Amino acid sequence: MICIIRRLFYSLFQKDGLRLAGKQLIELFKYLFGIKQFVYFDFNATTMVDRKVRNVMNSVVARHYGNPSSLYESGQKAAEIIDNARIHVAEAIGADKSEVYFTGCATESNNAVLKSLFDNFYPRKKKIIALPIEHPSIIKTLEYLETKGAEIAYCPVDHNGSIIFDALERLIDESTFLICCMLANNEIGTIQNVRKVVDIASERGVPVHSDCVQAFGKIPVNVRSLGVNYASFSAHKVYGPKGIGALYVKIGSPFTPFVHGGHQEQGLRAGTEGVHNIAGFGEACLSIEKHIAHAYRLQKLKDKLIKELKTLKPDCIINSPERDCLPNTINVTFPNIKNGDVMAMLNYYGVEVSAGSACSSSDDKPSYVLKKIGLSDDATRETVRISMGSSTSEKDVHYMLKVLKNYFNGKTFFVNSITSNQLDEKLLLDDHIFMLDIRPEIQRKKTPGLPNWHQILYRDIEKDIQNIPNDKHIIVVCENGQLSLITAYNLKSRGYHEVSSLKDGIKGWKIRNESLYKKYL
Ligand code: PLP
Repeated sequence: MICIIRRLFYSLFQKDGLRLAGKQLIELFKYLFGIKQFVYFDFNATTMVDRKVRNVMNSVVARHYGNPSSLYESGQKAAEIIDNARIHVAEAIGADKSEVYFTGCATESNNAVLKSLFDNFYPRKKKIIALPIEHPSIIKTLEYLETKGAEIAYCPVDHNGSIIFDALERLIDESTFLICCMLANNEIGTIQNVRKVVDIASERGVPVHSDCVQAFGKIPVNVRSLGVNYASFSAHKVYGPKGIGALYVKIGSPFTPFVHGGHQEQGLRAGTEGVHNIAGFGEACLSIEKHIAHAYRLQKLKDKLIKELKTLKPDCIINSPERDCLPNTINVTFPNIKNGDVMAMLNYYGVEVSAGSACSSSDDKPSYVLKKIGLSDDATRETVRISMGSSTSEKDVHYMLKVLKNYFNGKTFFVNSITSNQLDEKLLLDDHIFMLDIRPEIQRKKTPGLPNWHQILYRDIEKDIQNIPNDKHIIVVCENGQLSLITAYNLKSRGYHEVSSLKDGIKGWKIRNESLYKKYL
């Protein structure tokens, strides 16, 4: 709503101010009368920071500035805050506090385990076994270690994303020094039987790492009962701050320092601690049980949502498994509807969902997770992830269903997409066309836009709106056609009559129109 009020204010200073302001007033009324709402359905990407967590963090920032390594009082107070937070994290995951190390994020925790164990074992042992549907922070690190000589074996999963145990047993050999098995998948929600993986691995003396990021706060996680040697956690998935993670290392498990320098984190991860972030993580862990208590309610909402989706769109396919799945996650394919279109339309109506992992949302590659469970490239691009959280209500679900229903019935307005073939020389030179390139500098450097294109960064649209004419046909261009669609919807809602999005972005257009691109560059 604040955003609309801000837009309303900006509109008044524009050429066509009164009319644009009128549009924003209508938007404001829609919010005030509940016709339009703001609904967040992307809790697997991140969560809002809990009020209690914010209060604790604010007080640490304001009052406890001491360096935790200093011996005087303010330093010792900061050290005590860290100590307490470590206890809270340890209690929430069922570990001893000496087994918990704070890191910058779960990506760092995952990197640290893989690289540390590689250093420990290579070249005596070479093999790491992992699920092919692990988070990119595991997959990319494995790809890196492969270039250093590691042998990576991906254990196949079935159509639900569940590990195939026979295959795992066959893959383990004398050279295996680590097995990675995530507890819950971020895109489809599959929960793995990590305990069984540990039982198989320990018979062969192989340590196990589990990425518990998505499971934590959604289902009970106890590292002792799981029996793993290593586990990764992230605060921002459990209503804590971003930029802080944790790594569990079972006492006695091999491990070497991964950030060299001072003695912090028992000498394993040097660097002055982010005390406020650590305090925030600790505080967030105090509410873990409260969040897990929402699981039953969320599961019911999820069941209802799935049932209604199937009624609205009988050909939709639910990719999340029926059993052994996170209670908050629905991964759904709407055949023949591009996920970018659904997301941009939902975004316009205030509903935020994602197309998969937040870490790969800016590229247009098909989701490897969905491909591994058997979806085609096309189907992966027709798939969205809906993930709920503690604050998701029945009203939110009802609202999203209403918006989707209108969309499927053709009752919402659509933004026109211009295909690469349609953007020909005639259109390029048409005076009535205003090409709006919203890509960041770094992408423009790699693939410059044409000289008569207008460049306004996506995040500056608000500020520079007066430079976008209302009497022309705006064609928004981004790298691959996703952000441009969202921007086009945004401009449409701001009163721009003729707005289109370049469907496959400059990337797709350039491939199909190489000579045209070169001619005008
Ligand atoms: N592992 C999984 C399964 C995740 O879903 C994520 C984040 O989306 C991460 C690791 C990375 O966490 P962070 O954002 O703390 O680096």
